[in-house]
Amino acid sequence: MTFESLGLSPELLRAVAEQGYTEPTPIQAQAIPVILAGQDVQAAAQTGTGKTAGFTLPILHRLQPLANTSVSPAKHPIRCLVLTPTRELAAQVETSVKTYGKYLPLRSTVIYGGVNIAPQIKALQGGVEIVVATPGRLLDHVQQRTINLSQVEILVLDEADRMLDMGFIPDIRRIVALLPAQRQNLLFSATFSDDIKKLSGGILRVPVTIEVARRNATADLVRQVVYPVHKDRKRELLTQLIRTLPITQAIVFTRTKHGANRLCGQLERDGINAVAIHSDKTQSHRTKSLSDFKEGQVNILVATDIAARGLDVDQMPYVVNFELPHVPEDYIHRIGRTGRAGTPGNALSLVAPDESRELADIEKLIKSKIEAVRVDGFDSPRAEAAARPPRSAPADRATPRSPRTAHPQPEPDETPVRRTPVDAPRVSASGAHFSRPPVASLGKKTREVPALLGGLVKKAP
Ligand code: AMP
Repeated sequence: MTFESLGLSPELLRAVAEQGYTEPTPIQAQAIPVILAGQDVQAAAQTGTGKTAGFTLPILHRLQPLANTSVSPAKHPIRCLVLTPTRELAAQVETSVKTYGKYLPLRSTVIYGGVNIAPQIKALQGGVEIVVATPGRLLDHVQQRTINLSQVEILVLDEADRMLDMGFIPDIRRIVALLPAQRQNLLFSATFSDDIKKLSGGILRVPVTIEVARRNATADLVRQVVYPVHKDRKRELLTQLIRTLPITQAIVFTRTKHGANRLCGQLERDGINAVAIHSDKTQSHRTKSLSDFKEGQVNILVATDIAARGLDVDQMPYVVNFELPHVPEDYIHRIGRTGRAGTPGNALSLVAPDESRELADIEKLIKSKIEAVRVDGFDSPRAEAAARPPRSAPADRATPRSPRTAHPQPEPDETPVRRTPVDAPRVSASGAHFSRPPVASLGKKTREVPALLGGLVKKAP
């Protein structure tokens, strides 16, 4: 299939060709015709599938007849509103709108908190057809009457599951109530839980459902590995992996802001070029860190889950879970940062004995065991035990999992204390000598693993 065959305008096809895309990704092939036909869509598509172009291109096509070069703001009412959970994702989506719409006189702007509101007001006053926004700041504009949503024809909820997790649903309902009843609605979500279905049921009308990835599937091209290691030696192992694989570019996830700062400082002391990105950092710092990272001036981005949401870095080769997330779905989001749009990626998880429960929950969610690789000098039997808890463990958990938050979830300053059994019996894991470049795997085990660690790696028992 080609982009031409989807019926997109020559201006859009030109912009797409400039990006070097030769054919639509599956989500694009399925979503674009439906959106062009004006239908509502609910799509289960994780990040990295090309979903942004999947909705941006047909939206631009639909708005193209209304595009004009008039200087009158009245000729540029907001016709499309895209809501995203984070500032970074909002910025990236709006960049995509500008990239794909570069040959069309349609205007767009991005609205998010943490920055001066005045330039946003100015942009809105000048007239824009497409607004990409995070819910909180958008409502600030509503309250200040600096935004008029009465002519919105298309609503997009991007990463709806994240918005749900972050407690944005009441805000979203408030915003939806301000929109004209007659409109097209598009909802994108990495995972497709019953809560998301409930949300979409209240907003979408007779939507076409598109599912390009298995429900809760991990990214297709991501090779996942667990490194059993004691908590106190994680930083040392990470430095070793960065140097020996080598890892030239990676996002390293920590659970807490303090953890991110601490790890970043330690890596820098080890001579590794790293920056931390989390919600305590100013927006300008976050933007600069991200652009330094994208340009290769910084090798390691140490990030919390919230800060990393929506980050799109082309061809990110590695994602490292310095700590496993408490919420297993976050694992899918994290590793979705690598293996994007056809490029193979690696997701490495450093797993300490006290993370056995998290690992079991993740493996249950992805319905597959993650390959364990032991590194000489780091593979204490205790750590190995943690990496392989008994398969029955999740059912009879000793401590209840922290509930999903109903309100915007702040990034924790410190890791909450959780008691988890560490004395689970050892279960053998598959392992292999690394001899070839990374091999894609989803669910099924691959026996060929990359020439990553050289002599460092030995076969797991
Ligand atoms: P997304 O899932 O929207 O975050 O997109 C992930 C990445 O895929 C982005 O870096 C896009 O530039 C890239 N991409 C989108 N569509 C295509 C395509 N048809 N072919 C190749 N890459 C694409």
